[in-house]
Order: sequence, then C-alpha cells, then structure tokens
Amino acid sequence: MNTFDVIVVGGGHAGCEAAAAAARLGASTALVTLRRDNLGVMSCNPAIGGLGKGHLVREIDALDGIMGRLADEAGIQFRVLNLRKGPAVRGPRAQIDRRLYREAMTRELLERTPGLSVIDGEVAELLIGEGCVGGVRLADGRSIAAGGVVITTGTFLRGLIHVGQETTPAGRVGEAPAVCLAEQLQSFRLRMGRLKTGTPARLDGRSIRWEALEAQLGDVSPEPFSTLTGRIEQPQVPCHITRTTAETHRIIRENMDKAPVYSGQIDGVGPRYCPSIEDKVVRFADRESHQIFLEPEGRNDHTVYPNGISTSLPRDVQEAFLKTIPGLERARILQHAYAIEYDYVDPRELFPTLETKALRGLFFAGQINGTTGYEEAAAQGLVAGLNAARVASGGEGVVFPRSGSYIGVLVDDLVTRGVSEPYRMFTSRSEFRLALRADNADRRLTEFGASLGLVSARRRESFQTKIDSIAELTAALRELSISPTNAVRRGLALNQDGVRRSAFDILSYPHVEWGALTRLWPQLLDFAPNVVLQVSTDAKYAVYLDRQSEDLNRIRKDEALDLSVFEAHDFDGIPGLSNELRAKLRLIQPRSIGQASGIEGMTPAALMLLAAHARKSSLRSPGGVAA
Ligand code: FAD
Repeated sequence: MNTFDVIVVGGGHAGCEAAAAAARLGASTALVTLRRDNLGVMSCNPAIGGLGKGHLVREIDALDGIMGRLADEAGIQFRVLNLRKGPAVRGPRAQIDRRLYREAMTRELLERTPGLSVIDGEVAELLIGEGCVGGVRLADGRSIAAGGVVITTGTFLRGLIHVGQETTPAGRVGEAPAVCLAEQLQSFRLRMGRLKTGTPARLDGRSIRWEALEAQLGDVSPEPFSTLTGRIEQPQVPCHITRTTAETHRIIRENMDKAPVYSGQIDGVGPRYCPSIEDKVVRFADRESHQIFLEPEGRNDHTVYPNGISTSLPRDVQEAFLKTIPGLERARILQHAYAIEYDYVDPRELFPTLETKALRGLFFAGQINGTTGYEEAAAQGLVAGLNAARVASGGEGVVFPRSGSYIGVLVDDLVTRGVSEPYRMFTSRSEFRLALRADNADRRLTEFGASLGLVSARRRESFQTKIDSIAELTAALRELSISPTNAVRRGLALNQDGVRRSAFDILSYPHVEWGALTRLWPQLLDFAPNVVLQVSTDAKYAVYLDRQSEDLNRIRKDEALDLSVFEAHDFDGIPGLSNELRAKLRLIQPRSIGQASGIEGMTPAALMLLAAHARKSSLRSPGGVAA
C-alpha cells in the first residue's frame, strides 16, 4: 500500500490550497481527485476576490498560499471594489481567464510543489483505525495510507442537478457525484444537511449585441493580489452591463411553478447573497429590473458568464427570458443554467483546526462545510492542510484567532455557529474589521506563517525588506515635527493651539495628503510609494483602532444586558438592522446580548444597535433607572 503523511481528497479550491500547504510544511502529500485536468476548475463565476473575499485571498497570500499568485497570472480585469470608501472595506477583485487559471494551478501543483503527488481516482471510503483515520480506499480498489486526510469534495457529495423538472445525479455539470463517500460519512453519525447553489447559462459572446451595452473597465493600474507579483502581465478586458426587463420578470413569474425551488422539488437552502433570478423576482417584487454583468470567461474564449441570472428554470423558459434582455435578444446558449443540491457536514462537528471531533486526523474544508465561494474554500483548505500535516507528524493543530484574520473569523463562525444557508464572507462579519484590512494582511500573518514553516525564504526576505522600510518611515515621521504657526507659514493649515505636532500626527488628519508632508520635508520623497501607502493608512487608522477597541470592550460589558423586555415584533422597530437579522431575532428572541451574539450572521455593528436599544428601553421601563 502507498503511504503518505497527508491525503487530500478533491482538487478544487480547498483541495489545491490544502495540498500545497501540507507540502510546504514538508509533509509527503497525495492529492486524490476525480480528474487531474480539472485542478482548480472554477465551477461558477470567472472571478476571484471581492468584498470580504479579497481579504481572504490576501491572507492566503500572506501565508504563502497559491490562490493570489495564480489569480495574478490569470487575471484579465482587476478592480478594487469600494475604492471610495475606507481601506478596511475595500475589496480587491479580478475577472479570471478560466483556462489560464486551471493551467497555472496544474503547473503549480504538478511541477512546482515538491513532495506532492497528484493521483487520479475517486475516493470511495475512508480507512479507519482506532478512533482515527488511517487512509483512503479508491473506487478502483487501490488503498493509500496516511496519518491525516483532508476531505474537500465541494458540491459532489450526493450532488443532484436540477433544470426545471429534470434531475441528474452529478457533482457539477458533466461530472459524476460522490455517493459512496457520502454514505460512509453519514454512517459516522455526523450531523449533515442539504444545501443548494446555482449557476447561470453560458452565452456565446459572438451572438451578443455589445454595441447596445454599457462597458465596465478595470482599474487603470491593476493592483495584484500577491505581494510577490511585480506587475500584472495579462492584457485587461472590459465587462459589460445589461438589465432584466418587465417582460423578463413576467415570463419568470408565469413559469414559477416549473422552478424547482418553488415547486418543492429542491429541499436544500440556497445562498441568500447570491440568489437565483426567480428568487430575486419573488423577494424583490417591487423592483422592475436587476443588473446583469456580462463577464468574459477568457481572453481567447467566446464564452460569456451573465452574472446575476442563475436559475433552475427549464431550458425553454431560460431561452425565452434571455430574449427579453437588451443586448441578449439573439444570444446563443452554450450551456444552460442549473441548480445543484448537495450534502454538507455541519461544521460544528469540527474543532477550530478543522479536524473532526469524531475522528483524529480527519479534516474537512471548503463547500462540504457549508460555505460558498472559491476564496472561502481556499482559506479553509490552507488551515486544514496545514493542520493535517502537523497532526500527521505528531504535532498539535494551530488555530487562527478572530482578532488576527478573516480566516480566523470564517473558521470561528463555522465551528461555533454552524450554517443554515451557504456561508460567504463579508467584512461586516468581523468585529475587528478596521484592523483586518486587505492592505495589511502580510503584516498580520506572514511572520506567523513563517513560524509555522509555511512561508518560503523568498517571501520572508521581501516581507522583511518591506517591514524595515515601514519602520524607518514611521520613525522618521515621529521624529519630524512642526509648530502650528510655522506650518501655516509654510502652507499647511493646522489648529492654532500652539501644540507642536509630529509629521505622523499630522498625517493622521483626514484632510492631510502625503504631498503636504513632502512639501514641508522634501527628504520624505525618498520613500517608495507602497511603503508610504502603508504608513499613511496606519496613521489615518490609529485613532479609529482605539475607538474600535473601546467599542469591543463595551460589547463585552454588555453581554449580560437583558433583552427579555423585547417582544418578537420589537426587533422590527430597531433602525439599522438588516431584514435577515430582524427575521432571525423574531424567531430566536434572544434573552441577552450574549445569546444574540451566537446567532448565525449576527454582526458586531448589529450587536451595538441591539445593546443601545436595550439600554434605552430599560431606562423607559417602569423599573428602569432614570438617567
Ligand atoms: P470544488 O471546487 O467543487 O472541488 C471539489 C473537488 O473534489 C473536485 O475537484 C472533484 O473532482 C473532487 N471530488 C469530489 N468527490 C471526490 C471523490 N470522492 N474522490 C476524489 N475527488 C473528489 N460560489 C459562489 O461564490 N457563488 C456562486 O454563485 C456559486 N455558484 C455555484 C454554482 C454551481 C453550480 C457550483 C457547482 C458551484 C457554485 N459556487 C458558487 C461554488 C464554488 O464553485 C465553490 O464554492 C468552490 O468551488 C468550492 O470549492 P471546493 O474546493 O470546496 O469544491
């Protein structure tokens, strides 16, 4: 029998990152996947990053993971979302050339990852020892032994595709589902459930009337995900925007009885934040139109991904409603849209290392844990691969704290709160979001990664150079100072209070730009733009970070605050809460802030609103203390 330290099952986004992480730690690693030519396939949209998700990609990169570097190689349109808002909520995102990404992933794993073997095959069964996993058996009868096994089978466990009333067992279109493994996992008495997700039709770009549509360009200077990428080499392409019409909605409404989600054919819960077009037409009945982004699937590929109209309606209905969308009147469908239902494992069955509580050495990562998205999958893959390698060599697993990364927030949310719908990352999920910025991911994580043995010498060196320059500039700014009178004389308006301020303090003011400082102190022109950007952000955020820790202390103090004064309908009257949270609060009716904080999807900002409202109500109530 072949023996490895770690086996990773599945070559999707979680699996590839898990295998790469285990191999970086020096573990002999086998990646067993159904087809090696599908390594890193993007099952749905051709894009990586976005709000919250871009933070995850930067964190993966900071730990020397592969997703960011490969996205830089294959990216054909880079945009930083929320550019007009503060750095904490900006989300780097890129349209990806699907074929280039898959090829880059294949090269990375087959040629550039020492210690990693890729094996084609279906894992049908886990080999179990005394309370621990010992390896896997493949459907063709081969067995492989290992001290750690990471399962990353995505949507494949008992996957079932729906197109109208037609159902086909499949892991994704054209690929068989994993049934034996699903049955064995169920026999372990793990809590499991069904979720669903969907994908839109793929269109032939040559049949789209582009001239009728608004173009959306990427950023003028594409910003790479990885700190190791010098510059983006791929030529950049535009996306286009169109919208559904009243006629589109009429056709969808008239055929709702044929939509599996509404006819009762699908039991699994779908992603709230990525709803199908039939969901949108029902849930936002007053909206006359919904935006659709037409995203190219590659530079030399005519396939177009219409982002915003995923559906499980029958093929003829899909064809009919597409004709009602400007620019798509004669669009040819290359592949029809579908929904897929699959088994997931309740992530509360896992420790924060992503190891199962039931079996030592068995780890789960990715969509199997109830998440959705490539980035969420990859982040978990990294955690599970790292920990499987550690456990296989007799070490202890490591946990990523919530306060240090979105990876920590993701894993903590999953293992403590579980999921009732596919989980995706948002910056609002973190109570530390001012500190957890995409721009400082390396400063939060690279040293930690290096201490675990995850980070290459090349990255350690480039990181050290950057850190030294940041320290040098920060020290210089703290050293330089000026009086308000002198500042005004030299063209910089400051409060005339007689207090001498350091250059760092001056930079922290929202209205002060870097150029104002270099005019006062020309020697600052010697510092590189990326270092200046980091230090400027540090300065601007210093005051907010203090405020954030005060807010957090207040939440902790408020944990016992009594919410039992609220009736279910009272939650509707609290301004600023999302409809999703209002519905959950009505249903659960938490008795305290502590209990409310355990509700899936609860955000720190919402907790503060609840606490403020509870305090106000207790003052108003007969027994309340008068202010
Ligand atoms: P996957 O990328 O699915 O990879 C699973 C891997 O496991 C595959 O390589 C497969 O070959 C392998 N495998 C499975 N079973 C076995 C076995 N028994 N033995 C060996 N190998 C096995 N995400 C979004 O963010 N938004 C969306 O709108 C969205 N829509 C989606 C629509 C569809 C139809 C699908 C299928 C996915 C969608 N996704 C969407 C999800 C996104 O594709 C996943 O979140 C992401 O790919 C999950 O990564 P993963 O590594 O967990 O699984």
